[in-house]
Amino acid sequence: MNERTPPLGDTGGLWQAVLAAAAGRCQCRGTCGKAHDKDGGRCPAGHGGYVRHGTGPVHLLAALANPDALLLPAHRAAALPKRELAAWCPACHDATRRAARQATAPATAPDALF
Ligand SMILES: [Zn+2]
Ligand SMILES: [Zn+2]
Repeated sequence: MNERTPPLGDTGGLWQAVLAAAAGRCQCRGTCGKAHDKDGGRCPAGHGGYVRHGTGPVHLLAALANPDALLLPAHRAAALPKRELAAWCPACHDATRRAARQATAPATAPDALF
């Protein structure tokens, strides 16, 4: 038995480190499409807080800080270092990823895939 065996993966520790660096608050600065200008240009969602009455507490995600990188496959994203990561609330994360995908999509989609 080896007491110093690290846990499988370190996603919990990495998540905590990203959240600590973000002071427990979403780091979106408008890439989701909302300017967040009422909140100093940064999303006000804090981990465990309530954005709106009637919704559950916010669970912030540790995900890539660069919106374009949000399109990376998960196995490549998981290999990136902590400094490439930011805390996101689910709403900003989803909207930012959607916006990034639209920005990189070809102007004209093929008529058929096969
Ligand atoms: Zn947010
Ligand atoms: Zn946002």
